[in-house]
Order: sequence, then C-alpha cells, then structure tokens
Amino acid sequence: MSDSPETRKDARHKRAMEKQKSRVDASIARADTERGVAILLTGNGKGKSSSAFGMVMRALGYGYRVGVVQFIKGEQLSGEEIYLRDHCPQVDFHQMGTGFTWDTQDRSGDIAAARSTWEKARAMLDDPAYHLVVLDELTYMLAFDYLPEEEVLAAIAGRPAEQSVVVTGRGGGSALQDLMDTVSEVRDIKHAFNSGIKARRGVDY
Ligand code: ATP
Ligand code: MG
Repeated sequence: MSDSPETRKDARHKRAMEKQKSRVDASIARADTERGVAILLTGNGKGKSSSAFGMVMRALGYGYRVGVVQFIKGEQLSGEEIYLRDHCPQVDFHQMGTGFTWDTQDRSGDIAAARSTWEKARAMLDDPAYHLVVLDELTYMLAFDYLPEEEVLAAIAGRPAEQSVVVTGRGGGSALQDLMDTVSEVRDIKHAFNSGIKARRGVDY
C-alpha cells in the first residue's frame, strides 16, 4: 500500500527540518566569540528606541546593570523613563537637560548640553559594571556635529569587552555603521501619525 499524500508531506517536512537544524547548528557552532555587541538601530520607521528598551528589559531579566542616556530632551515624559526611574534601581537613566530642544535654535547652548550628556555616556562606556548601555538618539549629535565623531567612536570601540551598547537614531554616518557589529534599518512603510492619528501614550511615548 502506498503512502498517503499526508504521510509523504510529513516525511518531506521532517527531511527539510533535519536539514534546517543541521544548518542552524553549524552556524551556532561557528559563532564562538563571546563578547558584548555594538548595535545600531537606524532608519525612518518606528521601532528604534522601543527595540532598545526591549533589550533593556532582557538585561534586567538577568539582573544586569544598565545605563541609558537619551540625547533628545522631549516635551513629554516617556513611559520607559517613568517606569525605569520608579521601579528599576539597576538602571541609571540620564536625559539631556532642558538646554536642548528642536526649538531653542541656540547652537552653543545645545552643544554644551550635548557635551555634558556625552560625559555621562562616556563614563558608562568606561565602566564594566554596565552590561548594557543605551545611547538613544545619539546619531543626531553626530549629524549636527555637536559631538566629536572620533571621540564617540573611540569610546564605543574601547568599552569593556563584556559590555553591549545600543545606539539609536536616523543616519549616523558610515564610520559608525562600520564600527557597529549589528546594524538594523527600520523602514517606514507607513505610520499612523501621517493619517492624522495622534501619538499614543504607552505606545509612542
Ligand atoms: P519608538 O520610540 O516608537 O521606537 P523610534 O525611536 O523609531 O520610535 P523616533 O524618530 O525616535 O523613532 O521618534 C519617536 C516618536 O516619533 C515616536 O512617538 C514614534 O511613534 C514617532 N515616529 C517614529 N517614526 C515615525 C514616522 N516615520 N512618522 C511619524 N512619526 C514617527
Ligand atoms: Mg527614538
């Protein structure tokens, strides 16, 4: 009696999965370097900062110490800031002071704010106690030339071997992309805001 189509499908599936598993196992075996990773989340779509905070949550799950530095001072408090400040003593959270907004048009004030915020970031990138450091919206500081690119890249490159760093923001330049181990571009296919839907508390901020 010949096999039914379902039985043949099952057997084909099993063979394909066996092949897939051996490919996955081989690539896992090849990745044998243990060290912190540098991740850049860029592009025009929504999801860069929220992905970074997803990794913060992962690190916290294992009880690691985390540093977060946000290089844009928004009008609005964000849910992540409220939560982390209130509930997560293992997270050190810094935000650029009120000196900087898109509206100040005060270039030297903005540069001073960027520099003093960068000092917080640099101290974290120097401290092996941090398992993960998030530099949210850092790319804009490089794009505006508010921070010296060489110094920023050197601090990221020279961080403790076990420390991972996540940089978010559009652009950032090719030198930054070259340095980072993982670079993901979030593409904007569409965004609710452009259909007139207001930014949503607990979703967008
Ligand atoms: P999120 O923090 O939601 O992950 P993001 O970090 O990718 O967003 P940012 O450029 O930092 O994006 O912008 C933050 C805010 O702007 C969020 O409220 C987000 O929903 C909104 N936003 C992000 N991308 C777009 C877009 N393409 N059009 C309109 N609004 C956007
Ligand atoms: Mg963002």
